[in-house]
Amino acid sequence: MRTPLVAGNWKMHKTAEEARLLVADMLGGLQAVSGVEKVLCPPFTALLPVAAMLAGTDIGLGAQNMHWEAQGAFTGEISPAMVAEFARYVILGHSERRAYFGETDEIVNRKVHAALQHNLTPIVCVGETLEEREADLTAKVIRRQVSGALEGFTAEQVSGMVLAYEPIWAIGTGKAATAEEANRVVAEVIRGTLTERFGEAAAQAVRVLYGGSVKPHNAAEFFAQPDIDGALVGGASLKADAFVAIAAAAKQA
Ligand code: PEP
Repeated sequence: MRTPLVAGNWKMHKTAEEARLLVADMLGGLQAVSGVEKVLCPPFTALLPVAAMLAGTDIGLGAQNMHWEAQGAFTGEISPAMVAEFARYVILGHSERRAYFGETDEIVNRKVHAALQHNLTPIVCVGETLEEREADLTAKVIRRQVSGALEGFTAEQVSGMVLAYEPIWAIGTGKAATAEEANRVVAEVIRGTLTERFGEAAAQAVRVLYGGSVKPHNAAEFFAQPDIDGALVGGASLKADAFVAIAAAAKQA
């Protein structure tokens, strides 16, 4: 049995003060949802205040990115050790990082290695563009991203990771994939690639989330799918009621 996980990716939203207000709004509701791992991923500047509010709760904290080096002359970057002071999770390879900041599969792979070295659970994002989907390249692209991100790991290490299938055309557009379509990619392409590379046990142990316009009204459909273990939520994670409702839907599933 894979424990469902619902993670909120706040992206570049919320000052530290706004973050405190948002967490205060959702804290009680989220704590009332048992049996689901809940993770908040605010911007770096809000990690410290949010960590203080989540201390002693069952809600996890994650960063949205980090550098792969432990320290050094990388002006403007945040190291894995800095993230690990406050957080237990880190989103890596988000399509916005790949598209706007030039992150390649190789860079994502270095970051995933750094995450494990610092006891951080990576949430590794993969997903195809609309052009790739229309050219029937979805499987090829996702196989490449999964294999690239997980190069050099053992089956045991991979088993503890979290992957997120996020079709780029569904992110922030309000046009989610259908639940069946998302489940097919997760089962056949993502778990299929994991089985080939790491064996059946690891492929079945990894939690795979769906991300892309998950809202309270469609969350349950995704969570009802056998191979989808939760959601990475962008826009709806910025609204306390919506995010709590999505977490509650994961529990019911
Ligand atoms: C995301 O950014 O990871 C995401 C899934 O965003 P949204 O839910 O807004 O589509």
